[in-house]
Amino acid sequence: MEGLKVLLVSSEVVPFAKTGGLADVCGSLPIALEDLGVDIRVMMPKYASIKEDADETIIGKNIKVYFIKNDAFFKRPELYGDKFGDYKDNLDRFAFFSREVLERCKREGFSPDVIHCNDWQTALVPVYLNTFYKYDAFFSKTKTLFTIHNLAYQGLFPKDEFPKMGLDWALFHINYFEFYGKVNLMKAGIIYSDAVSTVSPTYAKEILTKEFGCGMEGVMQVRKNVLTGILNGIDQRMWDPATDAKIYTNYTAKAIEGKYANKELFQKDMGLKMDSSIPMIGMVARLADQKGADLVAEIIDSLLNMKVQFVLLATGENKYHILFEKISKKYKSNTSINLKFDAALAQKIYASSDLFLIPSRYEPCGLGQMISFRYGAIPVVRQTGGLKDTVIEFDPKTGKGNGFTFIEPKSKDFFASIKKALLVYKDTEIWTSLVKRVMGLDLSWKKSAKEYIKLYDKISR
Ligand code: ADP
Repeated sequence: MEGLKVLLVSSEVVPFAKTGGLADVCGSLPIALEDLGVDIRVMMPKYASIKEDADETIIGKNIKVYFIKNDAFFKRPELYGDKFGDYKDNLDRFAFFSREVLERCKREGFSPDVIHCNDWQTALVPVYLNTFYKYDAFFSKTKTLFTIHNLAYQGLFPKDEFPKMGLDWALFHINYFEFYGKVNLMKAGIIYSDAVSTVSPTYAKEILTKEFGCGMEGVMQVRKNVLTGILNGIDQRMWDPATDAKIYTNYTAKAIEGKYANKELFQKDMGLKMDSSIPMIGMVARLADQKGADLVAEIIDSLLNMKVQFVLLATGENKYHILFEKISKKYKSNTSINLKFDAALAQKIYASSDLFLIPSRYEPCGLGQMISFRYGAIPVVRQTGGLKDTVIEFDPKTGKGNGFTFIEPKSKDFFASIKKALLVYKDTEIWTSLVKRVMGLDLSWKKSAKEYIKLYDKISR
């Protein structure tokens, strides 16, 4: 459709604020959409991390990013909570944000064809649009798309907080907000939107089942006819070992020696033995059961008793922090355990690793495998969600495939998969050709951005 106007709303957007893949997606999809001629604009809260004085800025060539300001709500060190847990006023914060998104559209004179909402923090936008603004001519043509980046994070609040949203109590009903006695924002977002998508075709199927539905499988079944899965891409300009300023040496598939030079400098920096022949196994993740941190914990002793180096960059549940601190002490010589969030260090790890672990129990899309491909680190993943859609078991005989996979979330299968990868690693010729090939994979947004445009078109027609 000519002149399609889309507003993407998200609680995190690279380069302004990030706790995970949501930010990567919301920072890079708009750039791909702009390249395809969409009038795309972005709205997000103005957090303390946003240094700009103005309440708007530009990304890409000319994409307006509007910051929603409320210092009492958003000028805080973290996005959603601190070491004591989630911020107690998260419902106030994101109800305010969602309401302001619509008000800001009006103030800017921007009436989008589609408002593309992402995750529970933005779920009230479609609700408000269909209640408070139902008869507002300004939004008479505006439709909504709700993208689920992770169905496990639903925005659950106690029933007594319901009035904070300013909505009629009648909506505290099983067909709308009510979920086992609580207020569920994501559920309402899914119900009130014109279309629903998630971030991979496989996850779109999985969330219809009890195993992956997080209690919402019934709701997903109800919305099945408007649900699609569109695979995430990555910004290949940003994630590029040929130009990445945060890594030690830039390299390309054609000049792959640079990757190994990079690895040695990293080994030196991390206090590991400088020897590029030792396989380096990387992991950058949230330490949660979702990410299979427990599977890593189960195999870590066996793994570290082999001739490998293990580099972890992660934050998350305290039980895993304690565990990996212990591991760090026990295996000083061949581990580098970094329990923090550090974007630059992540880039160095992707660039230096030979193998990259993603043993997720479920994974809506997963960006780690795509970034690791780009940097020539071969992923070892569980076949689930987007991992299943992007990682294909490598067969050294045929040379087909791009990584190593296992099916059941069992530590013995995970370990067998790593061992298989390490065996292939020993054959330098086969390994190098695999590394070079994955670095050339198309992981861009090109195809998926077109799918989003098709979907925007379909709902706004
Ligand atoms: P998630 O479920 O956490 O969103 P994704 O795979 O979709 O998982 O995206 C994770 C993103 O966050 C990737 O860009 C990854 O590199 C980054 N990341 C995760 N943990 C850290 C960390 N501790 N420090 C820096 N970057 C991190």
